[in-house]
Amino acid sequence: MRPRDLSGSVAAVKCPSCGGLDDKVVDSRQSDDGASIRRRRQCLECGRRYTTFERLEELPLVVVKRSGDRVPFEAAKVVAGVHAAAKYRPITDEQLQTLAHEVEESLRLAGPEVTSEDVGLAVLERLRELDEVAYLRFASVYKGFDDAADFEREVAVLTKSTEPKRR
Ligand SMILES: [Zn+2]
Repeated sequence: MRPRDLSGSVAAVKCPSCGGLDDKVVDSRQSDDGASIRRRRQCLECGRRYTTFERLEELPLVVVKRSGDRVPFEAAKVVAGVHAAAKYRPITDEQLQTLAHEVEESLRLAGPEVTSEDVGLAVLERLRELDEVAYLRFASVYKGFDDAADFEREVAVLTKSTEPKRR
């Protein structure tokens, strides 16, 4: 049985010299940007040393649009959409970036495929906590309210949930 090396890696790598599958990791270091790991390995059969690179590969997050089209999720689109809704509101670019990042993280948990509706709801959920006005603006565009009643109902829900509790 092949012993598990200290790095925890169990992937079999063929030795370039003898084709042996047993090796040990003699050195392991991360690239400067942290995106890859370089491992120095030694073949246990012939002693040859060689280097392997491991790169983090994330599954693409796919958004299924109402039309049925599939497009890759882009955090920049979330930022742009919320940015428009947050015009003149006290929301910093950093908060927008954080929101987009949180939206992406929550969608990845549900992914690898999510609907455009899921994206909109995830944005709304976070925007609601951040800024009520921006939330309502985004909701009005996103949900495509077609009459004033829809908008008022949304305001009512918002007011109810933000009103201090009385007894
Ligand atoms: Zn070898």
